[in-house]
Amino acid sequence: METITTKKRRPVVHFPAELERQKFIGKLYGYFHSDSNEYNVVAYGEALNTTLPIIGQVVSEQRDLSETSDELIGVWQNEKLIFQQGKRKCKGNSYELLLNIFSRNSGILETGVMLNKAVIISGCGSVGSLVALELARAGVGNFLLIDNDTMAYHNICRHQCGTSDVGKFKVNAVRERISQINPSAQVLTQSTILEEVPENVFETFCDKGAVIVGCADNREGDFYANKISCLFNIPFVSIGFWERAFAGEIFYSIPSKTPCYQCLFGDSEKRISQRVSVNRRVYTFEEDIAQTRFEPGISTDINFITTIGIKLILDLLNLDTPDYIPRLVNHLSQFSLICNTNDSQIGGEQAEIFAYPLQVTTSIQVDSDENCPTCQLKS
Ligand SMILES: [Zn+2]
Repeated sequence: METITTKKRRPVVHFPAELERQKFIGKLYGYFHSDSNEYNVVAYGEALNTTLPIIGQVVSEQRDLSETSDELIGVWQNEKLIFQQGKRKCKGNSYELLLNIFSRNSGILETGVMLNKAVIISGCGSVGSLVALELARAGVGNFLLIDNDTMAYHNICRHQCGTSDVGKFKVNAVRERISQINPSAQVLTQSTILEEVPENVFETFCDKGAVIVGCADNREGDFYANKISCLFNIPFVSIGFWERAFAGEIFYSIPSKTPCYQCLFGDSEKRISQRVSVNRRVYTFEEDIAQTRFEPGISTDINFITTIGIKLILDLLNLDTPDYIPRLVNHLSQFSLICNTNDSQIGGEQAEIFAYPLQVTTSIQVDSDENCPTCQLKS
């Protein structure tokens, strides 16, 4: 498509404030957008580890550049860094990376606190990728991503990653997206299923006071995530969906303080079968595993339910943060059902248990099971 521009906009340079503090001279790496005429300097100096293109340089002496050049030159004038594009003077925008990225969170989520928080995300599909990126936007600084699957074209309509990611392990695609939000985030990846991750990986990670989030498409995975939660004494959140994502369920637990996932869904035949027959978590039926791979459900419906889970995760990460105002944890019960539509044409007769669309239950009680083997794992 042709863009019609009569006159180029005034050049703008976004550059790290360190350049000025260091009285830097040398190469600048990053992106130049010729349509908007803006430069984004993201690395400088030798930048040996970058594959980014060189977009300009800071020089020690002023040079004469041609009128038409779009070469970016920085020079020092009276202790100030002045940029020019050819003969045109640029508008300089210096930035402090983390301060600027998270400035709009301030007063609600403290960046200094959030950067030390950690999450383990089991399953990096539509749910897990949204959880990961929203938590990165909230400022969470440490991630352990677990998923054995690769990106395919049929994932794209409800995943945070896109066509350029097809063929990558989902964990690596999501890691790249996290670093686009916060380049300083520490992201560990395990391209395997949760049950195959060595325990020592959790050991080091859980030191940071993590929350484990079950986003896999089967209840068995959530049982195992619950076990990790009890074993390492970290809160657990499970986000799961019913048929076509017409509704979903969110569970959370805090070891030593609440009943666990196993207490709720039980390991005795009777309790499992009851629960499953009441809550048709279609994604999760083992016998339907081939079908569930193709279980439809649109991104908007999945994201609405997932967002409620993310708010809970923020609350659980900040249980001990002074001045933090919890959003949901004091109001939702441990097990909540969330309805996108109560229309039976989408949700089947199960949809009729909901009184209205967007209903969120707050009254389901979860009882402790005195004989729960998982609760007893607590250290
Ligand atoms: Zn239990």
